[in-house]
Amino acid sequence: MKNQVLRQDLIELDGSHGEGGGQVLRTALALSMITGTPFKIERVRAKRSKPGLLRQHLTAVLAASTVSNAKVQGAKLGSQALRFEPGPIRAGDYRFAIGSAGSSTLVLQTILPALWFANGSSTVSVSGGTHNKAAPPADFLIRCWLPLLARMGVTQSIRLNRHGFYPAGGGEVLARIEGSSILKPITLLERGERQALCAEALVAGVPSGIARRELDKVTEQLDCTDSKVRELPQEEGPGNVLMIEARYAEITELFTAFGERGISAETVAATAVQEALQYLQSSAVVGEYLADQLLLPMALAGGGAFTATTASSHLRTNITVIEKFLPVEIQIHELDGGVVRIEIS
Ligand code: AMP
Repeated sequence: MKNQVLRQDLIELDGSHGEGGGQVLRTALALSMITGTPFKIERVRAKRSKPGLLRQHLTAVLAASTVSNAKVQGAKLGSQALRFEPGPIRAGDYRFAIGSAGSSTLVLQTILPALWFANGSSTVSVSGGTHNKAAPPADFLIRCWLPLLARMGVTQSIRLNRHGFYPAGGGEVLARIEGSSILKPITLLERGERQALCAEALVAGVPSGIARRELDKVTEQLDCTDSKVRELPQEEGPGNVLMIEARYAEITELFTAFGERGISAETVAATAVQEALQYLQSSAVVGEYLADQLLLPMALAGGGAFTATTASSHLRTNITVIEKFLPVEIQIHELDGGVVRIEIS
């Protein structure tokens, strides 16, 4: 069955609604391109300390406009209002540079869904940050998001060519996408057997002793099957990121914490461990972040269900935006222990 999309008249969005961050804009751009529906958004990122379009959001808008030959008004730095009128999606070889350490993965997540449905294969390179706070690290896209999309019928790969950390940036992710996808619904109601619990501490231009202290702390508290320090080339830094991967038969989750000046390695480890424990001690299949990132592909598939550790405000806000563009209904059912079951129909 070809996935159903309906073109509508102009959709009006309030960027201050709910979470009030960049996701409202990114989801709107993705669905506008796919459905051919124009939209207008006001109060862009109104709930963030620096509202309006930062470099990362502006790059996402310009990338979406390039991929869909859109007419755009308000695409400039700091802009809090935007009007976007897409044309047809074009497969191609694209390169986008954020020009700061803004998240390249969030730019990628904005345009990949459109290219899943393009008439041909594409490559997309985005340069900027690849491991940013408050964004999915490239490893998260590759290890957690991609395998689920593959099960839904999307053929794509993502390669991390170079790490980029705040504030220097300079990283690069490269995606290859087959077009003409037909998405099928999946359900994620069981994790399956646990296959691994791995901790990995990356350092770039930062002493490796920091990474070892982080891992010591993690392995003190979690029963890891593997732990390793990865020293990246100095010129990719300075940067330090700690990742804990929980791999199950049906799902992989990744918990991340960032080293920062003035924050001890032990505190970084405690942050990542706390996040991991929250998931490990829950019966839910999907963690907080993956939950809001799965909604859009599942809605495009026209169905699906999963249990999640929590219904975050990102998740609730994303539901509101998706329901404006697509003929789907997304329900949140509260289960025991704070777990929720999300159903898309
Ligand atoms: P926004 O705050 O609206 O720009 O959206 C941020 C996006 O980044 C959401 O889709 C979150 O799920 C995602 N995100 C934030 N932190 C993480 C993390 N540690 N791991 C994976 N995804 C994340």
